[in-house]
Amino acid sequence: MKLWIFSLFFLPLSAWSHERAELPPDLQNTPLAQSALSVLEQAPSELQRLTGLAPEGVLYGLTVSLQNSEAVAKLHYVSQDQLNDLLFDCHSHGDHFDCHAAEQGAPRALPGPRPGFGVEIFETSLAESLALFARKVGPLSSLESITIWQAGKDVQLILIHRKGTKIQQSHMMCHQHDADHFDCHRQLDAGPGRP
Ligand SMILES: [Zn+2]
Repeated sequence: MKLWIFSLFFLPLSAWSHERAELPPDLQNTPLAQSALSVLEQAPSELQRLTGLAPEGVLYGLTVSLQNSEAVAKLHYVSQDQLNDLLFDCHSHGDHFDCHAAEQGAPRALPGPRPGFGVEIFETSLAESLALFARKVGPLSSLESITIWQAGKDVQLILIHRKGTKIQQSHMMCHQHDADHFDCHRQLDAGPGRP
């Protein structure tokens, strides 16, 4: 898979062989990012349990939101041609956040095409888009919620953040340009197929 080749340029090789993917150091200590990675880490085994299938073909995306000093997450996945949510409670274990599967949401109509990406492209998109957010939009500590999903060949993101007393929404899209170049862009509107 081409993704593996470019991944090596900005994430350490070791990140992919451990259970937990690693964000660049300055992005690691945010509850939202840690919670998102915790859910992605558990996605293969949870999706196997729920659908009997590997993430490719059923992993639609995820939403992670801060809630007081903790976080809640939803793993969005396809089952029987509908979109389903597995809800997670996320909390701090001292130096890191992790998430525990809690309950199942109600199935609803699939808002976009069937997905085909594995976990790695979501991890890569998350790391790249958070880096872009920190460079161009605001501090990572202002983030309240991240939604990330596959829409066709692209990964789409909605990042909700505080600016002063206002809540703002940033939209990003990540994609592969060629064998060795994957990147994320800011965009004006939310991409199609929002879960
Ligand atoms: Zn691009």
